[in-house]
Amino acid sequence: MNNGDRPSYDPHAIEAGRQAVWREQDAFRTPDTTGDRPRKYIKPSAPFTSGNVHIGHVRSYSIGDAYARFCRARGEDVLFAFGFDSFGLPAELGAIAGKEPPSVWVDRCAQHMVGQLRRLGFSFDWERTFMSSDAVMYRWSQWLFLTLLEAGLVYRGTGSVDWCDTCQTTLATIQVENGMCWRCHNPVRLIQRPQWYLRISAYVQENDARLEELAASGIWDENALASQRFVLGRVDGVELDLKAENGETLTVFTPHADALGLARFVAISPKHPDVERWAAGAEVAEQLEELRSGGLERSAREAETMPLVDTGRTLSSPTGGEPLPVIVSPMVDGRFGATAVLGIPEHDRTDAVIAERLLAPQRVFGIPADTPHESSAGEQPTASQAAAARKTVRYRANDFTISRQRSWGTPIPIVYCETCGTVPIPKEQLPVILPLDLTPTGTGNPLAEREDFVRTTCPRCGGAALRETDTLDCHFDALWLWVPVCVPPSEREQTLEHILALEDLHAWLPSERVVAGSDSGNFVFDQRTVTKALRDIGPFEFLGDGEPFAGCLFHGMVIRDGRKMSKHLGNVVDPDELVDRYGADTIRLAVLYAARPQRSLNWSDSDVKRCHRFLRQVWDYSQARFALDPPVTERQDAGQDVSDGTKPGAKEMGADKTEHLRKRLEQWCGTAVEKITEDTRELEMHSAVRNVMRLFERIGYYEKRVIAKRGSLCAEDLEALKTALGTLARVLVPFAPHIAEELLIASTEPGVELDAAWPAGELVPR
Ligand SMILES: [Zn+2]
Ligand SMILES: [Zn+2]
Repeated sequence: MNNGDRPSYDPHAIEAGRQAVWREQDAFRTPDTTGDRPRKYIKPSAPFTSGNVHIGHVRSYSIGDAYARFCRARGEDVLFAFGFDSFGLPAELGAIAGKEPPSVWVDRCAQHMVGQLRRLGFSFDWERTFMSSDAVMYRWSQWLFLTLLEAGLVYRGTGSVDWCDTCQTTLATIQVENGMCWRCHNPVRLIQRPQWYLRISAYVQENDARLEELAASGIWDENALASQRFVLGRVDGVELDLKAENGETLTVFTPHADALGLARFVAISPKHPDVERWAAGAEVAEQLEELRSGGLERSAREAETMPLVDTGRTLSSPTGGEPLPVIVSPMVDGRFGATAVLGIPEHDRTDAVIAERLLAPQRVFGIPADTPHESSAGEQPTASQAAAARKTVRYRANDFTISRQRSWGTPIPIVYCETCGTVPIPKEQLPVILPLDLTPTGTGNPLAEREDFVRTTCPRCGGAALRETDTLDCHFDALWLWVPVCVPPSEREQTLEHILALEDLHAWLPSERVVAGSDSGNFVFDQRTVTKALRDIGPFEFLGDGEPFAGCLFHGMVIRDGRKMSKHLGNVVDPDELVDRYGADTIRLAVLYAARPQRSLNWSDSDVKRCHRFLRQVWDYSQARFALDPPVTERQDAGQDVSDGTKPGAKEMGADKTEHLRKRLEQWCGTAVEKITEDTRELEMHSAVRNVMRLFERIGYYEKRVIAKRGSLCAEDLEALKTALGTLARVLVPFAPHIAEELLIASTEPGVELDAAWPAGELVPR
């Protein structure tokens, strides 16, 4: 059984060949929605047009692609496509570095990335790919902005916003990581600025309430659920109204309902809507302004150094004790949102630190230094006060700004008219076109310097008006980026009203599964929010629970030597080099093999080598066996039709001797198919790949046992072996599609149905 002159495994030839066939057959075109097969929209993440596909993309898309191919092979209709997230700061910075317009930069990047992804053999429907920075697409952002504005879910406010001096831009709370800019990692400070906001607070409670249903679905991965809980930042507690000296009241919150009598102060968030009322008086207002504009150093985010403003006001104690001083501190935001809270030092370390600061060095804030910390009977809440405390929750998640002072983004469809004030552009006049020949330099906002863009006429009165020169943050684009791939490309230029009424949206939504990195929690949260808004407004009425994604898998990062990969650390793995060296199938298999999707994948070259060796062995072994014609063994059978089991004789006697081995092989195959089906359906690709490898070992073991038993394979033995190898090829398709399809074709009669190649079996419906 040597493999003679069989060609050894040549991944580049195999992969180029299969990819040519896929292109020729348009193999991954999204089926139209008239059929009655089960339908699945598998949503990959929308990549930034960063310029290069990195190994993290390869991991993400290998998981999603395996699932997509698995579903197709089981006879389901699959939509697997994405749009590039091509607006935003990363692209702008890339363009600055390249001294060219961002539009040129992102086009080149996207083209290059598509080439890389095609070479990796991912089964995307490329016809549905789009760029969020194309006018026909950013029209969606403008339409959504106006629609949410009409519904009161987008609003203009002046508020404290996080500002990065380096990037010269405001940041969403979620873009601030430990007081640092998510992008440049420099310290962030708070400033006051007019901004456009997205009112996610309107749906925070429903997003919270729906979590139980998502968990019950069984296809929301625990990581993904945890991310949604984290973004919510839910705190359970009570709220009560406290009176000031002048009779004004303030609603304060505490998670410690049983310790109201131990409250020592009240802290208000600088983003609290009523904060100005409590920080009145010239001196206090000035301090508040300083707190906001002075910014917060990283260290100042700690309770020990967090800025505090004493308002000089007090509120009545909930239990009739000493009045409580009222302070303003940003420490409230990060914990409870833009609210007011009771400071209870005995139950909360941060409160204890603040109380300590309030007391030292003198009694600056009017707290008697000798206030006993032990609760006395008199400080316990009375029955009536306890009754006045209402059970409630606070969420850290809050409205955030969606406008940026950058030029590479969706123009906000608003003009400012001297006569009419702030005027939205009518939807039928969309899109407001972004000039494409802008070349940003990294300072200021080049859009604001373009007279031809800024000066316009008011759509209401026809008079002179100025355009809004802030653009929408690309986080806003992400709110809808998952929708347009559901629309047939032929409909893409139609009005949004037409598009949103298409049957296709009903057919594909909600997406059956999102497969994205574990840093996608905020994106998914906000997509869940806007889906509920569009449900209530109308277009997504058919999504009753307002959930865009029926299931969700968040996978871990790819790291190396325990550290995040970065150019700076010089530990980056280049997918192109790996494909050059080993072929796409090996790399795809290796990222699936190396770790459970939920875990971080610690990169190791030995996993790649091991997977490459496995594929080479499967190739050589299968090719050699497929090439064998029966009879292959007993010389005395030569010339006879050994597969015709009707004639009794020596050959049949031989076959009997190994029948139990063939039976066992069949059982092994059955069990393997069952396990791999279950694994892949659960997106446990790591386990599925191991079970594929185990099946291959068993096939080899079977052959060894047969040869040990009777010296060689009889026709029946070989037939069983070929059938098993065919099964192996079928279950390998999702994970190493090129080699698997090639083997599948070699294993069977011509015209094998690759579309529905999953081994039939007892498939338990979910
Ligand atoms: Zn920055
Ligand atoms: Zn006007």
